[in-house]
Amino acid sequence: MARNLDLATRNALAARMRFYRELGLTDFYRRPVDPAFLAQLEAAAAQEPLISTLAPEADAIAPRTPIAAPPVIQTSVPQADRAVALQTIREDIGDCTRCALHVGRNKIVFGDGSPNARLMFVGEGPGADEDAQGIPFVGRAGQLLNNMITAMGLKREEVYIANVVKCRPPGNRTPEPDEGNTCSQFLFRQIDVVRPQVLVALGATAATYLLGQRQPLAGLRGRVHAFRGMQLIVTYHPAYLLRDPRQKKEAWADLQIAMKELGLKAPAKG
Ligand code: URA
Repeated sequence: MARNLDLATRNALAARMRFYRELGLTDFYRRPVDPAFLAQLEAAAAQEPLISTLAPEADAIAPRTPIAAPPVIQTSVPQADRAVALQTIREDIGDCTRCALHVGRNKIVFGDGSPNARLMFVGEGPGADEDAQGIPFVGRAGQLLNNMITAMGLKREEVYIANVVKCRPPGNRTPEPDEGNTCSQFLFRQIDVVRPQVLVALGATAATYLLGQRQPLAGLRGRVHAFRGMQLIVTYHPAYLLRDPRQKKEAWADLQIAMKELGLKAPAKG
């Protein structure tokens, strides 16, 4: 049916699918189509070449197959050596061409914050601002994340922030499975160096690659998951919260779980 949609409708549909994905809604069912109508459509389609503008979004909601995380490294890196260990990972990434995302990138967005952080946030992938500056979460979603960190009684420099993919997906689309699986191996290494007490997965993509399974966000939020000897909490992506601020209350409830685990109290207002 997508063949008959104009570009504006297709883009609107793609945006709506992204919105649903961020809500954790990934399975869709269609009512049975009238066979006569279907035959009519198929005849029309045979006259036209297939337009695949929706393909990336369609792939985004297809089952992803995150590959297994590398085994947990038992020996933790001493605090004094963590900055150097992170630098080694950055050097291993190099001027990366391992996946197609390198084609359009300006800067690799490796990570930001304290190598000794007790709290780490994981996002999906850089957007335009991050791609320009080489630093994660510096755009509008980053401003909101900064506010969330402040509300927890922390400074941004005290936490560590990284993404599943380190290069910007074109048009901010969801990373393809091969991109996510290739790049998340570096994310796992970063996590194993920092070894925060608590990790917060921001959105469905981060949760999928960290937990190694695709599940609606709704079923993952609101509790602590055991993760490589650390605690993992899943919440909404700040970009989604910008689109639907009503969910901020829910996200705050998730962050309060993280605060409880970390023994943090929200700063007094005023
Ligand atoms: N969204 C992300 O997931 N990561 C960023 O760094 C910025 C926006």
